[in-house]
Amino acid sequence: MSERIPLSAPDMGEAERRLLLETYDAGWVSSVGPVVERFEREFAASVGLAHATAVASGTAALHLALAMLDLRPGDAVIAPSLTFIGGVAPILHAGATPIFVDVEADSWNLDPRLLDDAFIRAEAQGLTVRAVVPADLYGQCCDIDAIRAVADARGVPVILDSAEAVGATLNGRPAGQGALAAAYSFNGNKIITTGGGGMLASDDAALIARARYLATAARQPAVHYEHTEAGFNYRLSSLSAAVGVAQLQSLEARVARRRAIFDRYVAALGDLPGLSFAPEAPGRRHSRWLTVIQLDPGAATTRPLELMKALEAANIESRPAWKPMHLQPVFADAPMIGGAVAGRIYDRGLCLPSGSGLTDADIDRVCAAIRQTLEA
Ligand SMILES: *Cc1c(COP(=O)(O)O)cnc(C)c1O
Repeated sequence: MSERIPLSAPDMGEAERRLLLETYDAGWVSSVGPVVERFEREFAASVGLAHATAVASGTAALHLALAMLDLRPGDAVIAPSLTFIGGVAPILHAGATPIFVDVEADSWNLDPRLLDDAFIRAEAQGLTVRAVVPADLYGQCCDIDAIRAVADARGVPVILDSAEAVGATLNGRPAGQGALAAAYSFNGNKIITTGGGGMLASDDAALIARARYLATAARQPAVHYEHTEAGFNYRLSSLSAAVGVAQLQSLEARVARRRAIFDRYVAALGDLPGLSFAPEAPGRRHSRWLTVIQLDPGAATTRPLELMKALEAANIESRPAWKPMHLQPVFADAPMIGGAVAGRIYDRGLCLPSGSGLTDADIDRVCAAIRQTLEA
């Protein structure tokens, strides 16, 4: 059996190992200390935001951002239906009701033209919209300016879920800019990883200071651990931060490699009938965190789940596109605006091996298996 080709495995180098051991040897292990601060500073600089606080996961970053809004029953938060649940579960944990919106066909992200309808639906159901949480899906920025225009007119903040988009840009601006705050993920399968971790970043110093305080058990500066409210234990450890500092140094090369992998798939498979690739919308630099294909049921010989099985038989990992939130049992009662585009992407989608550690030979093996299956 040939070696397994994973979807998106951690890509670790010598620099990561060296910084990790240096940090360990210097005695910096907990979430206190210069390495976490360095990671926060260098990450904030890389996304062009003034402040950042390192946390245990991207989900934790979003939970903190929503927790600061003091949501209560009757409050609603608008989110795209096509996303990973880590961007959406915090809405429930923060005590609000999610309202889902369909995505645009050209970026696969929250469709700003449907946003007003979501506000109107909320009002009709007696809900008060308190935030909009769009995502930058699969490594491509959403249309943050158009989303902001609608949200600003309603006086509602935008928290951006840029978990998948570290290294992506929109009109030259790094993912996460343009919102009140942005959340990023360093989960093991993301473009840079700390083994598990995340970051909340913003130009608002007070917002990040409050997030850091809430993430540290909401501990008041008193020797006897004074608490005026209940916080979270969401801080990132120094050992994880050390890996993050090293990963960040090669971010550009990682984006370039993922984009080259995407280009290799397009060159090898672009002629297959009914097979197409996730689009890159105007002004975007897609990080191609994952290469996602679409199989048109009218033109392709194979459905995504059949192809997934065939790839699995060749020891190649693939995965369906995200199952939209409005089709998830946990959100059966949540209001939904539209849904045809997200449903179609899910129905036709398959994510291909995309890790920056994969070789050209690995990608060629995936391409050969796909061609063999679709031409059979
Ligand atoms: C990965 C991811 C998250 C959550 O990040 P974790 O670090 O895994 O908690 C949130 N939203 C999206 C779109 C993601 O892909």
